[in-house]
Amino acid sequence: MEDCIFCKIINKEIPCYKIYEDENVLAFLDIAKKDYGHTLVIPKKHYKNCVDCDEKTLSMVISVVKKIGKHYVEDCGFNSFVVLNANGEEAGQTVFHLHFHIVPKNSELNLSADTPLEEQQARLRF
Ligand code: AMP
Ligand code: ZN
Repeated sequence: MEDCIFCKIINKEIPCYKIYEDENVLAFLDIAKKDYGHTLVIPKKHYKNCVDCDEKTLSMVISVVKKIGKHYVEDCGFNSFVVLNANGEEAGQTVFHLHFHIVPKNSELNLSADTPLEEQQARLRF
C-alpha cells in the first residue's frame, strides 16, 4: 500500500533490522529504542489491524509471534516476553499496518535500550 511505512520496509524501499522472515511474515526491530529487543511482527500483505485481517493470515502472524518469543527465551537468555497489539487510534495504534510488538524481558541481563540496533539484531535474529 502506498504511503505505508511497513509496506515500504517489505518492499525494501526503506531498511530494517530484520530478525525473521518467511513467505508471509516479517519481523524486525522497532526503531523507537525504548526497550531492548523491541520487535515488530507484520504480515507481508497490508491489513490495517486484526479486524480487517483474514483468520489464516492472522494465525500465521501469531505463530511467528510465538516462534520469536520462544526463541528469545530458549536461545537468547530472556526469561519472558510481552506481546502487545493496538487496533485503532485511541488504542494507541500509530502505524496502520497490522503489527504485534514483542518485548523480551530479563532484568538480570542489564541490557540497555540504547544498545545499537545492529548489536541487538546480532543477538536476536534467527
Ligand atoms: P503502534 O504505536 O502500536 O502503531 O506501533 C508502531 C511502532 O512502529 C512504533 O513503536 C514505532 O517506533 C515503530 N516504527 C515506526 N517506523 C518504523 C520503522 N521505520 N522501523 C521500525 N519501527 C518503526
Ligand atoms: Zn502496509
